[in-house]
Amino acid sequence: MPFIDCHCHIDSPAFDVDRAQVLKNAKALGVEQMMIPGLHLSQFSELLSLKNDYSGTAYPRLDIAFGLHPYFLSENNIAGNIEHLLSKFCKYCTQYESSIVAIGEAGLDAKTPIDMQDQIAILVAQIDVAKVLGKPIVLHHRQSHNELIRVLKQKKFTGGGLIHAFSGSFEIAKTYVDMGFVLGIGGTITYDRSQKTRKTLRRVYEELGDEHLVLETDSPDMPLFGFQGQRNSPERIPLVAKALSRVLAVDIEHIALSTSKNYSRVFSSPTS
Ligand SMILES: [Zn+2]
Repeated sequence: MPFIDCHCHIDSPAFDVDRAQVLKNAKALGVEQMMIPGLHLSQFSELLSLKNDYSGTAYPRLDIAFGLHPYFLSENNIAGNIEHLLSKFCKYCTQYESSIVAIGEAGLDAKTPIDMQDQIAILVAQIDVAKVLGKPIVLHHRQSHNELIRVLKQKKFTGGGLIHAFSGSFEIAKTYVDMGFVLGIGGTITYDRSQKTRKTLRRVYEELGDEHLVLETDSPDMPLFGFQGQRNSPERIPLVAKALSRVLAVDIEHIALSTSKNYSRVFSSPTS
């Protein structure tokens, strides 16, 4: 069964000891492709070499994206320096346009100490780059759906992309779907506390069809229920698919096929 892990930080130091093996195992389990999102400028060259180093058929196909994640903004030393950061970001994205499938992981996080207006300025700049390059965008949210939707609408962004680790109401899901986004479904649906999101997903599936969900692990984060405290891995994608198949009461084969198709529709492969 072909699976795609649409959000996996396989470049994380958590995989330094056994990255090649994890990728091989994932491929053997059917994970044909995965996307590694960008987090901060100094990581981008690493992503390019990773894509290159693991390009053999023993590994899943690695898609990469360049983005500025709100968690890493302090690291980028944004104080009085946003313009410089953004111009460097633009340059990188333009230079490697053909190697990236998307812009992101961008977004808004109400829980980080970074000023929300600064976060919005940096998000808006990334939306502009996505528009200019004709790329979709990968979005992180944390208690920020309303603000995120407001910014996307204000920018009239129609390029679509991924709402990473979706959780929320049917109305919010539908708003994103109407804007061309797919919703990333990961290990959180295996927990009891995710009842509201599971209900939303059932409604999305029944009322909007099977074209809006994709699978993700967010490895090494977001462990599935039963694996708390352990490193998450793209090897667990079949378990996420199984959990989603239970939530929606459809075959796992259908989940594998439809989520892979949905990913490919939104993120067309780069030319190099
Ligand atoms: Zn992430």
